[in-house]
Amino acid sequence: MVKIFIDPGHGGTDTGATGNGLQEKALTLQIATKIRDLLLREYNNVTIQMSRTGDQTVSLNQRTNAANSWNADFYLSIHINAGGGSGYEDYVYTNVGASTVSYQNIIHGEVMKAVDFADRGKKQANFHVLRESNMPAILTENGFIDSAADANKLKQSSFIENIAKGHVNGLVEAFNLSKKTPATKPVEPKPTVPDSDPKPRASSIVDYLKSIGVDSSFNHRKLLASQYGIKNYTGTAAQNTQLLNKVKKGHTPRPNAPVKGDMETNSIVDYLKSIGRDSSFSGRQKLAAQYGINAYTGTAAQNSLLLKKIRG
Ligand SMILES: [Zn+2]
Repeated sequence: MVKIFIDPGHGGTDTGATGNGLQEKALTLQIATKIRDLLLREYNNVTIQMSRTGDQTVSLNQRTNAANSWNADFYLSIHINAGGGSGYEDYVYTNVGASTVSYQNIIHGEVMKAVDFADRGKKQANFHVLRESNMPAILTENGFIDSAADANKLKQSSFIENIAKGHVNGLVEAFNLSKKTPATKPVEPKPTVPDSDPKPRASSIVDYLKSIGVDSSFNHRKLLASQYGIKNYTGTAAQNTQLLNKVKKGHTPRPNAPVKGDMETNSIVDYLKSIGRDSSFSGRQKLAAQYGINAYTGTAAQNSLLLKKIRG
């Protein structure tokens, strides 16, 4: 289990920097909370502690003591800059070890990829939280609160979300965190005979969709769920069973695909992708047979005919 200590800078009586109607302590808490939520929701094997989860006053010593006594693997401190400038920079302690340098390289790179901020570089400083933490630590300065341009970005929740995502992507890469797979039923033994026919008796929605050549990814099941009136699909076993029953009743493959898809493209592959269907040769071969195109070999003429038949 990777233990990440997230430290939203300032809080309580310490507002941090202010400017353009913004307070640093509120922004750091928003970013830190999003980082925590994304990590816990989407990744395995990670646990989080925060220096504060609300608008509390927490001293610098309290912050590093909490991380040290928890024995965190990594200390991430979130701040917003001020003092006349623009963009993103991050800090590690002076003369740190190779692992901290590589974490800084990774996190810096991912944040810069995720947000539209000027790159002020990777820096070193003798800050309390970097010096007194017993584990690799980084402090990120996410834009300048006193810059009108940066502040306008920081006022958008989508921008805050992207800052958080950049940090998350960095942590994921640095600590090799694996993504959670959406809840599905336990894997069933695979049929030993290759199946060319839909298996109406498949008892898992994933297996069923696969057997009829339909995209069985979480995102596509979610789309199907909404088309079949299953609200708030998160992939629970109950929802999967409900979806399986509805999809079977709805009788797939449906000649009139419920999804409109790309109406412009001349490519059957692109069109199938746009409606979340298997666009591989074998997927197209199955579809061709269903639509009465014999001896499908994937010629241009067969592909246009197939596109015409499916899209209409
Ligand atoms: Zn600060």
